[in-house]
This record gives sequence, C-alpha cells and structure tokens, in this order.
Amino acid sequence: MFEKILIANRGEIALRVLRACRELGIKTVAVHSTADTEAKYVKLADESVCIGPPSSTHSYLNIPAIISAAEVTDSQAIHPGYGFLSENADFAERVESSGFVFIGPRAETIRLMGDKVSAKDAMKAAEVPCVPGSEGALPEDPKEIVKIARSIGYPVIIKAAGGGGGRGMRVVHTEAALLNAVTMTRTEAGAAFGNPTVYMEKFLENPRHIEIQVLSDQHGNAVYLGERDCSMQRRHQKVIEEAPAPDIPRRLIARVGDACAAACRRINYRGAGTFEFLYENGEFYFIEMNNRVQVEHPVTEQVTGIDIVQAQIRIAAGEKLWFKQRDIEIRGHAIECRINAEDPFKFTPSPGKINTWHAPGGPGIRVDSHVYSGYTVPPHYDSMIGKIIATGDTREQAIRRMRIALSETMVDGIKTNVPLHQEMMLDERFIQGGTSIHYLEEKLAAKGK
Ligand code: ADP
Repeated sequence: MFEKILIANRGEIALRVLRACRELGIKTVAVHSTADTEAKYVKLADESVCIGPPSSTHSYLNIPAIISAAEVTDSQAIHPGYGFLSENADFAERVESSGFVFIGPRAETIRLMGDKVSAKDAMKAAEVPCVPGSEGALPEDPKEIVKIARSIGYPVIIKAAGGGGGRGMRVVHTEAALLNAVTMTRTEAGAAFGNPTVYMEKFLENPRHIEIQVLSDQHGNAVYLGERDCSMQRRHQKVIEEAPAPDIPRRLIARVGDACAAACRRINYRGAGTFEFLYENGEFYFIEMNNRVQVEHPVTEQVTGIDIVQAQIRIAAGEKLWFKQRDIEIRGHAIECRINAEDPFKFTPSPGKINTWHAPGGPGIRVDSHVYSGYTVPPHYDSMIGKIIATGDTREQAIRRMRIALSETMVDGIKTNVPLHQEMMLDERFIQGGTSIHYLEEKLAAKGK
C-alpha cells in the first residue's frame, strides 16, 4: 500500500479523498491555491503545498506545479478527484512518467474514452448497447450525411467527438436544417475542442439518465456496483441523484451491468468508472464513460457498503478485487442533494462568507462537505459546497429523511439551493419516481411563467 498520496483537487472531494487515506493509514499531501490556504481540509492533511494563485489555470490545472509538489513531498501516488485534471490523459501520462502512480485509468484508456467516437466504437465492440447512429465520424459528402440521417430517422443529434460538459451538441428535427447544423457543430467543435470531428445519433425525446458504477482491478477482474438515476438535471448538470433507480426491472440492470463489467475486462480498465446511459422504453443506450470518481458516488456507497474512493486507491496499489459480483447486494435506497452556493431559483452564484453553517444529522444522514461556520466560499471555482445524502430502507424513508435533513440545514451569509431541494422533495412527480432528464427544466420553466 502507498505511504503517501497527493490530492490534486479541492473542496469536498479533497476532503473525501483525505478521509479515505486516513482510514487506510496513508499520509496525505493537500495542494491548494492561495484562495484555499485557510481551508480546513488543507490543515487536516499531513502536509500542504501552495501551487499557485486562485485562477485554476495557474493552480489546480498547473501540471508542472503539481508534479513538483509530489516530488518535494516524496508522494507515491496522485489522486485527481473529479473535474480539473481527472480526465486529462496528458496529466495521467506525466504523473506516471515522473514515477508516480495515477489513481485512475491508464492514459491510453482516458484518451480512448475522451474521444466519443472511439469510445462508442469500443463499447459497440464490447456489446454495450449504444444509441443508434452513424458508424463513427460523419463523412464530408453531404449526400452521405443526408442518407445517414434518413436511415436513423429524425430527430437526430449532431455531437462533437471531443465534446464534454454538455457542449458541442445540436438537435436536428428536419432534413432542411441538417447540413447547416453539421457545419455549425463542426466549426464550433474545432474552436472549442480543437477537433472538428462530429458524429450523429438518434435523438431520444424523453429518456432518463441511468449510469452504472464499475470497479476494475489490474488482474482482469471487474464488477458493477448497481446503478444510479441522475435524471434530475438542469443544463446537463445533475442536481439530485439516487440509487437504485426507481422502477427498472433488476434483470435489465443485471444485463447492462454485466455488459459494462465485461467491457472493463476487455479494455483492461483500471479503477473506478461510470458508464452513462440514456434509458427509454426499457432500453439502455450508452452515451459516454467517465474515467474517475463521480460527485454522486456516495449514493452507491450507501446502498452497497463499498467505499469507492478506498477501492480506487487499493486498485491503484495493485490489489486484487476483494469481492465478486455475487457478493454485491443493493440494500435500501439513497438520495443525494447537491448543495450549491447559488440563488435557488435564479441560479446566480452566491460566493462569500458563511457566517453560520449547521449541518444536518441523525439516522441515515451523511454530509460530505468541506465548509464550516466562518468559511468563505471563493468565487473562482464550482459553486458546489457539499452534498447531503439520505439513506433509508425504502425510497419513501430516504425522501422523508432528506426532508428532515434539509429543514435542519442552516447556511447563513450566502444563498444556497436548499429551498429548491425542499420543493423537489415535496414534488409529486419526483415522489412517484422515474422522471425524464427534462423534468426539472420543464418544472422550472412552468414556475417562471
Ligand atoms: P457531455 O460529455 O457533454 O456530458 P453526453 O454525451 O454525456 O455529453 O451528453 C450530455 C447530455 O446530452 C445527456 O445527458 C443528454 O441529456 C443529452 N444527450 C446526449 N445524447 C443524446 C441523445 N442521443 N438523445 C437525447 N439526448 C442526448
């Protein structure tokens, strides 16, 4: 096992990784920008290194500064968290060529999965169900493009191979709009991602977002840890997540989960990962794979009892998976609300000093947050200040516990989206379960009228 790990991230996930390391008896190094010097998790780490000014380009994305911090502290491995450099193949490569272990997949896997066309090809080859679409990238010939769209059937969506974060996509409803949309997406993709390659998929009108969590070791063993439903989204950003997904037959989950685990073995995947699917009319359609720990990993931990961050570390250290698929049992139900420093209905960021922070507690409540009374939320980064996770024997109990937890949560000094979550926990359609990825935006739009 490693003796010392450098955590190349900030905020709640830095604290989450720190806790996993402490439980495993591993020393930690926190790297931080000058905006995060006072953060409590920085003080809790065994060592800390300032890697630059507040702007993340010069700190949390500063590869040479992070590598030097690992060198001067004699760290053995680097945990990238999520966001920032976590899915940057060049970073993973630099980490390993500098003699450290990257806690995540190999650089070549990140590269393969970072290009959505090659990712989809790999998944098709592994028999993971994909959205019907073009065979690889779209050709130049306009006639061919029209032909492909006709064979898929409208509406279609044009997507950038290098896209991410919900950008580089365009929905096309008619043939008249097709070629123009392809040209525009190509131009935008070239400018934004340095790669003008685009492909085409059937546009699913009312899907749910269902994802499968996997763990895969370096000895050819892979398992899936059930699914999460992350359909409650705004602008492609997840707001509420839960496990298991309401009303999906377990045999369908088992089928797609087995396919994901098999795909991991086939591509020699290393570590924790997530296969994201759209789910409509009883069918799963792969859209992309995330090669890192995700914000919403706690709901899976709550219902499986498996610590995903510790698993990442143990797998990176070369351990064999210590359980088999048949040992994994889904127990109860967990729901996560992402707490953001923002106006609950206008969504404008609300950084600043938190005068009072009172976190909820009690049976089934887990709070993953790095903030405290007196903490100042810096304006430079993501607005998420923590996550409340409620677990119960049933979905109903988890929802009841979440309502109580939200009512106990006190954040004074900045605005948060707690009121939005409170509304959602009373929303009839949410309580029913199984809403589509458009539900939250439709609800918010109706409210605005
Ligand atoms: P990104 O990497 O930018 O997040 P994804 O491929 O994961 O891109 O897609 C992001 C979101 O776009 C999905 O969660 C879904 O809401 C929508 N989307 C993508 N592909 C399709 C599709 N074929 N049909 C309907 N919606 C889609």
